Amino acid sequence: MDTPSGVRDIRDAVVAGRMSAVDICRQTLDRIATLNPPLNAFRGVAPERALARAAELDAQRDRSPLPLFGVPVAIKDNICTRGLATTASSRMLDGYVPPYDATVVERLEAAGAVIVGKTNCDEFAMGSSTENSAFGPTRNPWALDRIPGGSSGGSAAAVAARMVPMALGSDTGGSIRQPAALCGVVGFKPSYGRVSRYGLIAFASSLDQIGPIATTVADAALVMNVLAGADPRDSTASAAPVPDFAHALDEPRDGLRGVRIGVPRHLFSDGVEDAVLSAFEAALAVTRDRGAEVVDVALPYSPQAIPVYYIVATAEASSNLARYDGVRYGHRAGQAHTPAEMYERSRGEGFGREVKRRIILGTYVLSAGYYDAYYRQAQQVRTLIREDYDKALAGVDVIAMPTSPTAAFKLGERTDDPVQMYLSDVFTVGANLAGLPAVTVPCGFTGSRLPIGLQLTGRAMDDATVLRIADDYERATPWSNERPPRPAASASR
Ligand code: GLN
Repeated sequence: MDTPSGVRDIRDAVVAGRMSAVDICRQTLDRIATLNPPLNAFRGVAPERALARAAELDAQRDRSPLPLFGVPVAIKDNICTRGLATTASSRMLDGYVPPYDATVVERLEAAGAVIVGKTNCDEFAMGSSTENSAFGPTRNPWALDRIPGGSSGGSAAAVAARMVPMALGSDTGGSIRQPAALCGVVGFKPSYGRVSRYGLIAFASSLDQIGPIATTVADAALVMNVLAGADPRDSTASAAPVPDFAHALDEPRDGLRGVRIGVPRHLFSDGVEDAVLSAFEAALAVTRDRGAEVVDVALPYSPQAIPVYYIVATAEASSNLARYDGVRYGHRAGQAHTPAEMYERSRGEGFGREVKRRIILGTYVLSAGYYDAYYRQAQQVRTLIREDYDKALAGVDVIAMPTSPTAAFKLGERTDDPVQMYLSDVFTVGANLAGLPAVTVPCGFTGSRLPIGLQLTGRAMDDATVLRIADDYERATPWSNERPPRPAASASR
């Protein structure tokens, strides 16, 4: 029998008793041991803890109600796990072991999931390539000389290489969707407020959202059922009722008949690769065949999305990261003579270049003399961007765009040019600025077999519609079934 590899398949196999949770866990750990070394997708693996948890599940009699029973999962290393080191891939938090679980972690475990490890990411989730990790970059399973995208590159690579069927990511400006697209898997950023942020190491609190990376939309929807919902420990987590996202996919429908898809073509100017544009057009043609009506929409302020994002995100980051002072927790420099020197040296040694760049930028845009010129204006334009989306989404169900303007680029290609790196997110930051749900689903390959993603963005709190349309598209196309080659290092055995 083929080993099940998706979330639902694994869960069903364990619940039916075809495999034990321990068997699944062992196989997962073996795959990680073989496949992870060339990829560096994991920051840490916790075999004893995972096997103990799996054994506990196997000993349970009543398992059927648990939606993730026996499913191995990985967690981005900026999400707190009690007793399991959580560093946000920063030297600042090296050795930090949280005394509490993030709400999403609690919910996954309560649903029967088995946490196998923490995944590599850009330091404090700042980046688009996972090259900003203090612990070395992750590589793309489709081409080892290329980046997996970022900042949740470890989670995307781990799922793409089928080391785990699902991993959590966090998305502040695209960090779930962009790496999922570049690794050929599904990534979903929920509406702002859909999922609790309690226990997520804060980057930019008005933009951050946790979500799943999986191999199919149906699996992502299943996980959303577990993650979503109010949380007394996060006042921004919405109390709105949570629909059954997975069930919504199964309701009988006539393809995409009656669905309207908006396309902001005016945004696809220079910088978008030809292969990306042609895969995108082919994807639209599929949705038309399925009965959808594809219409043009305008997002007139979206050309300002990148500058607005990099003002708002850095401002919030400079404030959130002020807590790392070497006193309460985090790295403390030795041999300082005064408190000021201790702060300076601890922060100087603990943070990497990109994080420092953002703290400086964020402090600058918030400073008395520049607040009005930069921060206030950015907030005003953010409102205009949100209004654009609201207007467009009043006439269509979702807005379609490529997820990333290019396929995975080479390691090192953009590290010396931060602005080039920032432009990787032109199509993703809008959903965060406007608080909207957005998914990426595989929609083809470049000539050199690098994955391309289709992004669908929907109305606030209408996460179910976004997932439903993506699911229909996915089932009509072969892309989600494609798997990367086994890395040469392991294939040669
Ligand atoms: N790449 C964007 C940034 O560097 C988004 C990061 C994210 O979503 N965490 O800020």
